[in-house]
Amino acid sequence: MSIRTPTIQYTSSKAGRDLSNVALVAVSKRKPIEDIAQAVTAGQTHFGENYLQDAQDKIDHFQSQNLCSPLVWHFIGRIQSNKAKTIAQLFDVVETVDRLKIANALQKHLVSLNKIMQVYVQINIGRESQKAGVMPEDAIEFVKQVATNKQLQVNGLMAMPPFNADPEQTRKYFRQMKELAKKVEKQGVLETCGLSMGMSGDYPVAIEEGATLVRVGTAIFGERS
Ligand SMILES: *Cc1c(COP(=O)(O)O)cnc(C)c1O
Repeated sequence: MSIRTPTIQYTSSKAGRDLSNVALVAVSKRKPIEDIAQAVTAGQTHFGENYLQDAQDKIDHFQSQNLCSPLVWHFIGRIQSNKAKTIAQLFDVVETVDRLKIANALQKHLVSLNKIMQVYVQINIGRESQKAGVMPEDAIEFVKQVATNKQLQVNGLMAMPPFNADPEQTRKYFRQMKELAKKVEKQGVLETCGLSMGMSGDYPVAIEEGATLVRVGTAIFGERS
């Protein structure tokens, strides 16, 4: 397979945004080590995974490679509290914090690991019953609570809006996320509130609306089996 490079440069300049403010997380879930190795050769450093066992093998593999710039692993799946310890050990960033129980469990394990973890609070921006995430109106209070955990550095908010084949239909959710981020900053809860939003089908629109981090799988690695 060959790695395709998403056109973040193009969309950013179109949106009048500074490219240095948009990071790409290559979502490598269910993709083999060889695919990740190709992306690493192409200069990619941030990777997203959501299956723990699968992620462990990959992270162990690349840790043993002594790369000159270490990879940054993002956990983007639903967190079960009995898995908090493994997640705290393996990952650098957790993007799916949506329950205080999880935040507290991560905090506890991070203390014993003497490790600081960057986290995002997941927002259920489309208010979908089948999706994880904090409701938008609870976001401010929730972020405040999570930030009391000293080992957790809250970078911002994350969302997976309702799926729509037409990315223009998703724009309003990205806009709502941006409004929420502004509110978080205005109320002094976080100094700067990052936004992890946008996937293969809609990342250009997400960048136009203020994403600081996009999570792209299929557009880089091809369809997952
Ligand atoms: C799978 C996944 C992605 C990437 O999806 P693509 O459509 O393949 O780009 C992004 N975010 C999360 C949370 C995911 O689970």
